[in-house]
Amino acid sequence: SNEKALNYVNDVYEIVKERNPNEEEFQQAVKEILDSLVPVFEKEPSYIDHAILERMIEPERIISFRVPWVDDSGKVHVNRGFRVQFNSAIGPYKGGLRFHPSVNASIVKFLGFEQIFKNSLTGQPIGGGKGGSDFEPKGKSDNEIMRFCQSFMSELSKHIGPDTDVPAGDIGVGAREIGYLFGQYKKMRGGYEAGVLTGKKPDFGGSLARTEATGYGTVYFVQEMLKGKQDDLNGKTVVVSGSGNVSTYAIEKATELGATVVACSDSNGYIYDKEGINLDTVKRLKEVERKRIKAYTEEHPNAEYHEGFENIWTIPCDIALPCATQNELNAESAQTLVKNGVKAVAEGANMPSTLDAINVFQTNDVLFGPAKAANAGGVAVSALEMAQNSSRIAWKFEEVDAKLQEIMKDIYNNSVKAAEDYGKPGNLVVGANIAGFLKVANAMVDQGVI
Ligand code: GLU
Repeated sequence: SNEKALNYVNDVYEIVKERNPNEEEFQQAVKEILDSLVPVFEKEPSYIDHAILERMIEPERIISFRVPWVDDSGKVHVNRGFRVQFNSAIGPYKGGLRFHPSVNASIVKFLGFEQIFKNSLTGQPIGGGKGGSDFEPKGKSDNEIMRFCQSFMSELSKHIGPDTDVPAGDIGVGAREIGYLFGQYKKMRGGYEAGVLTGKKPDFGGSLARTEATGYGTVYFVQEMLKGKQDDLNGKTVVVSGSGNVSTYAIEKATELGATVVACSDSNGYIYDKEGINLDTVKRLKEVERKRIKAYTEEHPNAEYHEGFENIWTIPCDIALPCATQNELNAESAQTLVKNGVKAVAEGANMPSTLDAINVFQTNDVLFGPAKAANAGGVAVSALEMAQNSSRIAWKFEEVDAKLQEIMKDIYNNSVKAAEDYGKPGNLVVGANIAGFLKVANAMVDQGVI
């Protein structure tokens, strides 16, 4: 019954709060999933007898370690390193590493938990995990980054491998860091295990189109949502928050499909260029010169710079793509976007909208693509990188991009269908969560109580 299902979900949520006190982000990610799953337990109460949720909310393993490193002046620093190996029911743990001062147990657990369902949704054989460090990469020299990565991997290497756990990038971890991490792993192992990390440069086993995959995938997902309303991106005004890997390639693809992207941001503030963002400038500033986004206005004096990243949502737009970080878009910003006529929102970042913000979009009939669906293109192409590494081949860019488009279409269709099947038509949050959940839950049931 509905009451039994509701009670079950509420009981599990109480366990989560009790066992993980003060871990707000983790509690938030769990709450969103649990609320979505009520219709599943109503229809299939046998999952309750298998204690499926009690098992899912507890990571299979959490590794926490010391990361000592020496800066350029010879001073010794110590950071904290984490890897949460959350669920391996459908494949090796898979998920990125985040280097950012905000990283703690709550952050890696929320990210790892979401990764279980996102990875399942891709249709690829990958379990869920995540890791990182509270290390601040901003302002560090190349050599400091290298020594940090080497120290981090000296410990992490004991816990990962191509068939056990395959990390990749996330905030603060890009191709440069993956290169240093891979070099150290190879040295520790004394063998070339290309598939232990994804997001490598294509010269040494990386997949073409992996760099572009998350941002492109998010825009492909938006395309599918609009197609459902007989609409497309052509002529649309788009706001993309962030200016890292996800935003950059979301801007690139949206522009290619005829939209005008008028704003992007970093953690200090945002730029508004009503003619459309010059992406070459953004790429050079962020990827090569590693500068703040404010510097954009020096080269494009017609553009405006405003302090306060959250004010980017006051810009009127048809489509909003939050691609920066968790909880960057709250209910107030959501109200403003709605008031200004936003038609679609898709999450390129992980959990960028608060639960209240999602509620505002859904009650106002805004098309809403949740992170687990909309940004799954990145990890999906990571899985394709693993496949290429296992078979010692490399696919062409166009082949990978075509597979990515197919995967994003499937994710959209499967989410739409699950939402319909479980009585919440049009609700992609519920649809994505249920579709992701079912595959993992069934695998856990089939594999017994482990
Ligand atoms: N960090 C990305 C995510 O949030 C990608 C992870 C991966 O490629 O393993 O899904």
